[in-house]
Amino acid sequence: APLLALEGVGKRFANTVTALDGLDMVVRQGEFLSLLGPSGCGKSTALRLIAGLADPTAGRIAWNAAEADRRSIGFVFQEPTLMPWASVFSNVFLPLRLAGTSRKAATPAIEEALEMVGLTAFRDAYPRELSGGMKMRVSIARALVTRPRLLLMDEPFAALDEITRFKLNNDLLEVWRRLGCTIVFVTHSVFESVFLSSRILVFRARPGRIAAELEIDPNQPRD
Ligand code: ADP
Ligand code: ADP
Repeated sequence: APLLALEGVGKRFANTVTALDGLDMVVRQGEFLSLLGPSGCGKSTALRLIAGLADPTAGRIAWNAAEADRRSIGFVFQEPTLMPWASVFSNVFLPLRLAGTSRKAATPAIEEALEMVGLTAFRDAYPRELSGGMKMRVSIARALVTRPRLLLMDEPFAALDEITRFKLNNDLLEVWRRLGCTIVFVTHSVFESVFLSSRILVFRARPGRIAAELEIDPNQPRD
């Protein structure tokens, strides 16, 4: 069974802008799914609806009954939105702290998340000391520290230079293989979606709908 399904999902804003109309799509367990399309076609809206950050105005989002626990979602935005006054370690600790975990109990999970994104040596650094790519790594570690079953990423690398972006693409693939989590990745880069994904849904604009589906490799994880 799929992890979740969007069934006839529509989203209208202020009863004027129709961002999505009759969107049907599934997210399969363990896949790396890209949502590809031009700006304004509703990709971010679809991701936010999946995250439960907004509600659809039509249709529904049906979770696999065994996976319906919404706390098992990590979200990475294009802007890393780190706490500037807190160290890398403390930034990654945040989701566990909010869940009531002590710093001591959280430390192994934080160290592992930092290791996965190559930030072990930077645990005591502050965000202002880090490059854009490093800040994004912190943001990914923070999303992974709770070991979410589903990682949602909204154009995470769009603001980074090409080389940094390529390194992050490679490291993200390794994280995905290692954790076996499901990733839904929003991008308007053809290169990125083909490089990263096991499946791509191509969106068209106004109102947002799926124009094409591209299965890159049904056997996951791929080499
Ligand atoms: P994408 O992620 O593909 O660029 P979005 O999902 O961000 O597209 O936006 C889809 C459409 O919905 C756009 O026309 C956008 O302007 C509109 N939209 C998105 N969020 C809001 C909002 N909060 N209020 C009004 N319109 C919105
Ligand atoms: P867009 O759809 O945003 O215009 P493209 O896929 O056409 O993006 O790529 C624009 C430029 O950025 C190209 O030179 C491409 O090689 C480069 N690029 C895109 N994605 C990546 C990536 N993940 N890693 C490195 N370079 C990339």
